[in-house]
Amino acid sequence: MDKYRKLLADAGRVLAHEGQGDYVAGHVSLRHPDDPSLFLMKPAGIGLEEMTDENIITVDIEGNKVSGSGGRHNEVFIHSEVLRARPECQAVIHTHAIYAVVFSSLGKQLQAVSNDGAFFANGLPVFDETTELIIDQARGKSVARTLGDKGALLLRNHGIVTTATTMEEAVWLALKLNQSCHAQLMAEWAGGPKLVGDPQQAKVKGSYAARPDIFRGTFNYVLRRCGG
Ligand SMILES: [Zn+2]
Repeated sequence: MDKYRKLLADAGRVLAHEGQGDYVAGHVSLRHPDDPSLFLMKPAGIGLEEMTDENIITVDIEGNKVSGSGGRHNEVFIHSEVLRARPECQAVIHTHAIYAVVFSSLGKQLQAVSNDGAFFANGLPVFDETTELIIDQARGKSVARTLGDKGALLLRNHGIVTTATTMEEAVWLALKLNQSCHAQLMAEWAGGPKLVGDPQQAKVKGSYAARPDIFRGTFNYVLRRCGG
């Protein structure tokens, strides 16, 4: 397996290990190292942790599969349109991370209940045009437009989308987004957060972790917990 396919497969393992799998739903993509108009993607019909050299597919920027034995997810347009709109980004993740999905149903703004919430203090867009799946280009473009220049977005009653210049950061955002939604949900269960991080302080706190070594370290740590 070349290093790019391995990175994609490892990302799937990390996400599955951290509870972001929804059986065979959810997907990860990585821009093709030789052609920025192509991307490698998890195939349909398998779990996030089951990607191999053989089943990973290659897809073009229009969302057409160009190679690989696996099937293509019908929500491929999240990936193609975010990668089209954000040329600097190399990786896109879409999962049905359960705490984020449940949190999105509250219609509340994410707050800095814990450190994790601080990482989204600069804004967390919510896509609420539809709660249906993102199965055509128009919806994919709409998701990309809502995401804007941010790294993470909630799809109301559906899931999350993250993107970044590295796979490790995209995974980190997915993990932290779900964790921050979990933290706030627990506060809501306990009667609602009364004391939260000051928004300005939260922005400063969030900036401390915006470091490639932290993204890489977190990714590799979870991989070690997966067994290598
Ligand atoms: Zn979905």
